[in-house]
Amino acid sequence: MTEKQEQNYLELSGLQREISLLVSISALVEWDQRCYMPPGGSEHRAAQTEYLAGRIHAKATSPRIGDLLNELEATRFDDKRDPRAVNIREWRREYDLRTKLPQEFVEELSRTTSLAQDAWVAARRNKDFPAFKPWLEKITELKKQEADYYGWTVEPYDALLDSYEPGAKASEIAVVLEGLRDQLVPLLQAIQGSPRKPQVSILHRDFPEEAQEAFVKRVAAAIGYNFDRGRLDQTTHPFCTSIGPNDVRITTRFIRNHVNAAFFGVLHEAGHGLYQQNLPPQHAYTPMAEAVSLGIHESQSRMWENAVGRSLAFWKFWFPEAQKAFTALKNVKLDEFVFAINAVEPSFIRVEADETTYNLHILLRFELERAMVKGDLKPSDVPGAWNEKVKAYFGLTVPDDAQGCLQDIHWSSGYIGYFPTYSLGNLNAAQFFAKAQEDLGDLEAMFEKGEFSPLLEWLKKNIHQHGKRYLSAELTKVVTGKPLESKPLIDCLKRKASLWYGV
Ligand code: ZN
Repeated sequence: MTEKQEQNYLELSGLQREISLLVSISALVEWDQRCYMPPGGSEHRAAQTEYLAGRIHAKATSPRIGDLLNELEATRFDDKRDPRAVNIREWRREYDLRTKLPQEFVEELSRTTSLAQDAWVAARRNKDFPAFKPWLEKITELKKQEADYYGWTVEPYDALLDSYEPGAKASEIAVVLEGLRDQLVPLLQAIQGSPRKPQVSILHRDFPEEAQEAFVKRVAAAIGYNFDRGRLDQTTHPFCTSIGPNDVRITTRFIRNHVNAAFFGVLHEAGHGLYQQNLPPQHAYTPMAEAVSLGIHESQSRMWENAVGRSLAFWKFWFPEAQKAFTALKNVKLDEFVFAINAVEPSFIRVEADETTYNLHILLRFELERAMVKGDLKPSDVPGAWNEKVKAYFGLTVPDDAQGCLQDIHWSSGYIGYFPTYSLGNLNAAQFFAKAQEDLGDLEAMFEKGEFSPLLEWLKKNIHQHGKRYLSAELTKVVTGKPLESKPLIDCLKRKASLWYGV
């Protein structure tokens, strides 16, 4: 870098640091709103949030940032993975995302989705798709327009996808998800035909909330979540939020007669938290200290939740502890418990789906929204298309649209292109885990002894420390030596099906 470029980089870093600070303040305000704010505080809180959002937007779209980026993009870097090159690339991306959409468009989209969410709540309650249909039509049109503003080459859906999963392509995701479907549909049928059935009722006995909290905190700490740089609070919709480099918080909801919810919920959020807690501190306030994408973030949470937390090896260590913590488990056998937490059952509702059927729920949404954005599927035909796919993938007949195409909030919020990131998370989790196993040897033997740090160290070294150095598809390749594939996940689900269902 020339001296002038150094100066420009310094100035740009300073502006971006200010934006990062404002974003983190708004995260803190939101965390408080969701965890502790008394109901009376909502009006003032809305004013605070709106003010902060306005300040952030004004700063993030300042023409000075555009000028500095233009100048800095002329810099020659020997290595495009140089942290400064990565930061410039990502700051450009953020700047474009914020400035490519005209102000009137942003306002119209925000107004429409705000009204559409209310319409969706009512439509779902009344099982009334026709009431939601005009909103879905309007949102689909707006999202097509949004894709055009961002620009695309092969299909408009790519532009929408890109805002959640930089660099991802619909055609590539389709190949992986369809590969998954072709294996999962017959696997699911085989599982359903198995005479072995788990006793899921074990998980619905009496599990006092305080005991759940104490137990799950011990487990989260044991896998490496640092409570000196984080905390666990209660909310209706669990989440993980980063307030700062040394302040990464998670939340959960304890349900007394459903021990699964908080236990796996906390493992999931702690997985997100471990990623955030181990981003490289020397790059704080820059993209080099941020997660790659939603899909890669989700790969971390799903790995701890499913690959680790639902394994027999994990429970060989933790089940005796769980039996001490909960009288409800006194006469339960280890195998019975682990079978119950690995139960597979086709269902209508995505958020309640098990590991095996979950990705079929995602594929279905991906196929429909992609076709809508392409113009191949009219919003009015969505319920019929949805129900057909549920029949084909799960063998189920959808009783009403509330349990069908109206179940998720995403479309009414304008989140089209978001669903695939959930599956990218599951697929990457399985592929990373398989590679970790290859590198580290017998992970299960470690889990049986309560040793989780080798896996965490592996994740830090291969994933966390890189921040946004790679795009998600590149990271998968760099870490595992292969592009994203469906095989590792299928292998893992087949192993489980054979272990528990004998198929
Ligand atoms: Zn998650």
